[in-house]
Amino acid sequence: MSPALQNAALRYARLPITYEAIDVQPDALDGAVRHLVAARAAGNVTIPHKEAMAQRCARLDSIAERVNAVNAFRVADDGALEGTNTDVGGFDALAREVGALRPGSHVALLGAGGSAAAVLAALERWSGATVSLFNRTRARAEALGARFPIVQAITATAEDAVRDAAVVVNATSLGLRADDPVPVAIDHLRPGAAVLDLVYRPRETAWVRAARERKHPAVDGLCMLLEQGALAFEWWFGIAAPRDVMREALMTAAHE
Ligand code: NAP
Repeated sequence: MSPALQNAALRYARLPITYEAIDVQPDALDGAVRHLVAARAAGNVTIPHKEAMAQRCARLDSIAERVNAVNAFRVADDGALEGTNTDVGGFDALAREVGALRPGSHVALLGAGGSAAAVLAALERWSGATVSLFNRTRARAEALGARFPIVQAITATAEDAVRDAAVVVNATSLGLRADDPVPVAIDHLRPGAAVLDLVYRPRETAWVRAARERKHPAVDGLCMLLEQGALAFEWWFGIAAPRDVMREALMTAAHE
């Protein structure tokens, strides 16, 4: 989570607070949460704490409950810790960016971690969407598929998942490092299938670059990062997020 994104929005809105990253080890989460609640803090939660934070919230909204993970929290007036999940709306923005948010789409989803659950929660709101799911660890894909009826098939390979898909989503961490293999070779996709990569890198990811070279509409995770941050800002402060200011801060930080 880039502090630059929220700090730019806070400055623009003249809110005299700062957004800071805190490194919390899993066994220190309870202490950190107690401290944050006492300070009436609001913030984001990232890997590996999203599911654990959901269990610690006194109140979850329906989206966080569906995903079973929290990426944004705040403390209510009565002192209760509340959680939401803005990755879901962030994914909708990613899909909108390439015109992929269409009812009845067949989607291939690669990955079965926390962000894959957020993608499924978004997809089940696209009427009639169906999903083929592949994950390196099959048991994890089966557990996720059991929670989301839109998952029609758990496939044995990534190639099987993408064969008939109009939209292909990478929700694995493949692509974070420059020498990672691509999640699936673009040759296996249907012509024109939309390519949505949750991973972002200073420039486009290698997978998105390969997709664009083959004329697929393709987008990487920077736009999702922006929208999940904008939605969190709006949930914390109840005012419109300055998306243009936030986008500029993110682009600057990404190229530094
Ligand atoms: P996670 O819960 O740790 O899950 C990681 C996923 O990646 C699992 O499905 C895992 O498979 C798979 N994976 C990891 N290494 C792999 C490899 N070498 N080969 C094949 N699969 C591999 O993480 P997450 O929260 O879902 O996040 C996944 C990615 O999405 C991250 O890169 C994160 O940065 C990105 N993300 C972006 C945004 C955004 O705003 N753009 C928001 C959320 C997440 P196994 O189950 O087999 O380990």
